[in-house]
Amino acid sequence: MKNVPLIDLTLSKGLNKKISKAIGEVIESKSYILGSRVESFEKAFAKFLGVKYAVGVGSGTDALRLALRALGIGQGDKVITVAFTSPFTAVAIVEEGSIPVFCDVDEKTYTIDLANAERKIDKRVKAIIPVHIYGNPCQIDHVLAIAKKHNLKIIEDACQAHGAKYKGKRVGIFGDLSAFSFYPTKNLGAFGDGGMIVTNSSSLAKKIYSLRHGGQTKRFWHVYKGVNSRLDEIQAAILEIKLKELDKNNRKRERLAKRYIKELSDLPVIFQQVTKNSNSVYHLFTIRTKKRTRLMNYLREGGIGCDIYYPYPTHLQPLFKNYEAGSLPTTESLDRELLAIPISPTLSSKEQDKVILRIRNFFKK
Ligand SMILES: *Cc1c(COP(=O)(O)O)cnc(C)c1O
Repeated sequence: MKNVPLIDLTLSKGLNKKISKAIGEVIESKSYILGSRVESFEKAFAKFLGVKYAVGVGSGTDALRLALRALGIGQGDKVITVAFTSPFTAVAIVEEGSIPVFCDVDEKTYTIDLANAERKIDKRVKAIIPVHIYGNPCQIDHVLAIAKKHNLKIIEDACQAHGAKYKGKRVGIFGDLSAFSFYPTKNLGAFGDGGMIVTNSSSLAKKIYSLRHGGQTKRFWHVYKGVNSRLDEIQAAILEIKLKELDKNNRKRERLAKRYIKELSDLPVIFQQVTKNSNSVYHLFTIRTKKRTRLMNYLREGGIGCDIYYPYPTHLQPLFKNYEAGSLPTTESLDRELLAIPISPTLSSKEQDKVILRIRNFFKK
């Protein structure tokens, strides 16, 4: 049997043709930036989530940056976030001149440890950026309660959680603003970079329409300190087509995850827990073991793709090590012990059998 890739970006049947046709239409239209397709995809994505406004931007990192900027959070302001995430969450904070304050994550769900976060709140903290890591919603009600108590803004980092649900509602609708990424490997991925900011606030949406476009409020009239970060027409056309398959693909990921859990639960490995009130979209599926490196090598030798997300805790990296973090034991042990295994929606049951068998063999040795 062929190798099983960790991430398989093969399109489902018929999609290639549909997308090629749509790209051809954009080329013919001669409208490439901020045209009808971006607007149409923004509307479709907002409707999918159940939120009023969605504004397309150049990447997930830019979505986080512009969300901070729209809220007036910048130079010298502190922003609480997790160290167990894509480092780009913190890159966005630093890019805006703000100061990341890193907190630990929960041992079971790998999402923000709110007791730890609350201890780090002081007068300079202006916002909190929880991350729905691997597609698993954080405990949003608790985040909302803490934010209210301390008068903080919330930006959800939903870059890995397109379609995930908390108490039956899609994540991204709870924060003041939320950020999504369409990086090719995400559950909803473009053929390049792309991102989206969503909100229910018309004034914040208006501000972001301007910020992404150089801070213009009308043509050639610049009011705010903006950037040039726009989702383009070709990516928007592709994403609108792929959005129609997102729920189906997420359900497939969930079925694969449930099967892994069923078939591997007798082994000495730990799985990320999804709380009863949530539905994860399993952007990644990880197993936790102290034998991580040996297991990784063994799977790779057997032709099974696997990788580490994330190999270096954010707060220990050169760019971030001088910011406030303290000791974050759960983050550090997760980064030592987690291994991501294949969970693409295109994974066949035969391929999954092969992954399961190889993992079982490793622990038999
Ligand atoms: C992918 C990702 C980002 C950054 O998104 P880009 O589109 O790559 O800029 C930020 N946060 C998290 C949690 C991510 O997974």
